[in-house]
Amino acid sequence: MKGNWSIETQAVQGEYWPKNAEPRVLPLTQSTTYRYDTCEELAKVFDLEQESHMYTRLSNPTTDAFEKKMALMEGGVGALATSSGMSATVLAVLNIAQAGDGILASSTIYGGSFTLFTTTFKNLGIDVIIFDPELSAEEIIALGKPNTKAIFGETIGNPLVNVIDFDKFSKVAKALDVPFIVDNTFATPALCKPLTLGANIVIHSTSKYIDGHASVLGGIIIDGGNYNWDNGKFSGLVEPDESYHGVSYTRQFSPSGYIVKARVQLMRNMGMTASPFNSYMMNLGSETLHLRMERHSENALKMAKYLKNHEMCSWVKYPGLEDDKYYELAKKYLPKGASGVLTFGVKGGRDAGRKFINALQLVALVTHVADVRSCVLQPASTTHRQLSDEELNSCGVSPDMIRFSVGIENADDIIADFEQAFAQCK
Ligand SMILES: *Cc1c(COP(=O)(O)O)cnc(C)c1O
Repeated sequence: MKGNWSIETQAVQGEYWPKNAEPRVLPLTQSTTYRYDTCEELAKVFDLEQESHMYTRLSNPTTDAFEKKMALMEGGVGALATSSGMSATVLAVLNIAQAGDGILASSTIYGGSFTLFTTTFKNLGIDVIIFDPELSAEEIIALGKPNTKAIFGETIGNPLVNVIDFDKFSKVAKALDVPFIVDNTFATPALCKPLTLGANIVIHSTSKYIDGHASVLGGIIIDGGNYNWDNGKFSGLVEPDESYHGVSYTRQFSPSGYIVKARVQLMRNMGMTASPFNSYMMNLGSETLHLRMERHSENALKMAKYLKNHEMCSWVKYPGLEDDKYYELAKKYLPKGASGVLTFGVKGGRDAGRKFINALQLVALVTHVADVRSCVLQPASTTHRQLSDEELNSCGVSPDMIRFSVGIENADDIIADFEQAFAQCK
């Protein structure tokens, strides 16, 4: 059942449609396995002739409904939930690149993805070329090689809060004839739909705004179904897979061959499965996504303006601020709001910032972002602790940077907490 509903209705009701006298709310199916009457029927499921559940490593009714909702909200043809955001990134790339292949990745991506690409993937023989997203389309295209299999970027970078130029990235992807993979974690489909902006694959760390309550870890890959894999570059999707009785994913499952392969080949072999309980929580959280993103954006803009005018604040970056470097891109690609994360510096640098954070009472110091509770982190003294000031600057993280994830509390209460904390570090 799919009406032409807007994101608000999709978030609340998609994609669980109970029949007569069935539970109104998506039930948690906490079972690893499923019973069949006959061997013949189960064999059909193994042969991918019948779409039903056989083992929760591959699929589960609760996870299935959550995947379908995410695909619906992003406008894709299918989705695969994973155990974490990192596993979504791993599977999204490994599904199309192997040893000897390479991908192009923006330098302003999440630190964990950056390290995955530059160390683990490198050790696996996948050559990741990191590029500055401020380069021109022509300069990025020039970095492409015959073995390039994808271009990867983040809608809003974590933690640099830069907005990528979708037109430019999709121009590069088209020129190189490779899929454009977007990590849409910070924007969510409530604020931005990359598949309508030239992206082919969307991934999320659903641990962030999708769950929204910082209670469960998860990730998801959404297949746009809008890339022609049969162009000589992706034999793993087109040629028969001998590990799965000679199935050709694109020929048998078009337009969702990409996501079918990710599930029945990679998820089956590597097992980074979403727990049904986590899918249940993800689905519950996502029911209020549109409301939360509206308030996160509103509060973040208020906090950015407050900080901008504060004598103790040396700088603030938020793409929703009119004089921000990314304001025009935000206006174009994030018209409903620029999400809830901003960065700023406290006058006095790294030490003053540390004092400020220690003095906060309502806003907590945590290694997380993008949930209902306001939180902060100073990358220089935590996640990037091992780097010198020079190294920090080279990856765009200034030593005094505070990453501030603005929650959905009353903004005046957050401001009051900042006031008392600033007063203590004068
Ligand atoms: C947190 C995060 C990830 C990693 O997700 P986990 O669920 O923590 O594994 C990936 N990308 C972005 C943008 C993130 O913020």
